[in-house]
Amino acid sequence: MVILAMVSCLSPAGGQARAQSHAVADNAQSVPATRNAPSDNARLEAIGYRLATANPDRCELPQMLTGLMLHDIAGFAPQDRPAAIRTHGLTYGFGVLHLVSDSRAERAGIRRGDEIVAINGMDLEHFAEGLIGRKATYDRTEAFFDLLDRTLRNGPAAVALRRGNAHITLSLAGEPGCGGRFVALPDKNLNAWADGKYVAVTSKMIRFAADDHELAFVVAHEMAHNILEHDKLGGSASGLLAELGLGAGRIKATEIEADAYAIQLLARAGYDLSAPERLLRHVGKVRWMDLPITHPGASRRIAIITEAIGKFDRSPSAASAAP
Ligand SMILES: [Zn+2]
Repeated sequence: MVILAMVSCLSPAGGQARAQSHAVADNAQSVPATRNAPSDNARLEAIGYRLATANPDRCELPQMLTGLMLHDIAGFAPQDRPAAIRTHGLTYGFGVLHLVSDSRAERAGIRRGDEIVAINGMDLEHFAEGLIGRKATYDRTEAFFDLLDRTLRNGPAAVALRRGNAHITLSLAGEPGCGGRFVALPDKNLNAWADGKYVAVTSKMIRFAADDHELAFVVAHEMAHNILEHDKLGGSASGLLAELGLGAGRIKATEIEADAYAIQLLARAGYDLSAPERLLRHVGKVRWMDLPITHPGASRRIAIITEAIGKFDRSPSAASAAP
């Protein structure tokens, strides 16, 4: 039971990724809530951006992505806020931790270290200030991403920035995408989750993937769960790795569907379609906890993926066809 819970990649209860991020926030003292090593998040965000924006037609209501990774003072415990203000130049706005390369935000001229202080003339000084509380939380930044998403659906927005002592306003457009938001969680287990809104990948999994192509398979598999709304099917779900540990017979229909769908997402984004097999073979060789991950599970997953790739080979237009 514990094992199932640990390796479930589709959260049985919605909001697991969120709940996880809150748990992280509670422990975080001097790092922004939910934010793991910046490189882990930057890598995950870049892969997620590329996959999501290559597949905007796969959900009814696409998100508006910008490639911005933000933080705010609510993400720091109260005792760390003065240091955050000094170190990161954060006041009441949303500081730019990182930008995905060649994203809409980068093309708009936004830079790392900028602080967003107003959007379309709305000053953010009192934005969701009730969320700046006694504990570090990512909730205020998340609320701002919600606002940004709603705003950019109506077209480019005027974004006012504080850059050192200068105040500048730039025009930022969103790029439609599909599949969720992305969060790297500090965790020593190989795992990934989707909860309908988020794709969460552990730091161990991010570093385990040999390259971005392998990691993109992990992300695409979780995005597939979100796009296919597997969280709404109810019942307990098996996970990215559960079936590898528990035997081939335990692979559920939703996992097979997510693997096959992930191939379509990867193909459209131009990722190497041989990477999923490499990752699964690699996973098949590790011991997870004290449980050897069995080969039959990995082999069956590889067969499913190979079949999905074969469909592209027979139909070259499949990768660009609507789902
Ligand atoms: Zn899964």
